[in-house]
Amino acid sequence: MLLAEGIGDTIRISLAADPVEEVKVGYDILKSLHLRSRGINFIACPSCSRQNFDVVKTMNELEGRLEDLLVPLDVAVIGCVVNGPGEAEEAHVGLTGGTPNLVYIDGKPAQKLNNDNLVDELEQLIRRKAAEKAEADAAVIARG
Ligand code: SF4
Repeated sequence: MLLAEGIGDTIRISLAADPVEEVKVGYDILKSLHLRSRGINFIACPSCSRQNFDVVKTMNELEGRLEDLLVPLDVAVIGCVVNGPGEAEEAHVGLTGGTPNLVYIDGKPAQKLNNDNLVDELEQLIRRKAAEKAEADAAVIARG
């Protein structure tokens, strides 16, 4: 809460895990507060029996596969329509669970995805959006 209110800009995380995980978690918290922006800022629901796909597994796989991306991008991964559309509309890429699942790009419904190959297809969409955003950000910087 102190960080969210602009008091301080660093954080120390202690986990009963590999210290590398402490750095990742600390960085994720700073990204969620918009104090750091490099890489993907994932927004996920906690998941429950209403989920239409395995939210935790999908998140873990995506985080591992997309560690190399440095462009700042908000990606929402939400298990059902209870919170899915609202979060997806605020993200660069948002997945809302359903039958089929629905992907939003820049807040607009863009593509339906079944659970088969969900992570593969989502990874491709996120990488495509990240490349577009990197190009757009570079153009803005070039224009000064
Ligand atoms: S968004 Fe849906 S799946 Fe996710 S926690 Fe809420 S009710 Fe459960």
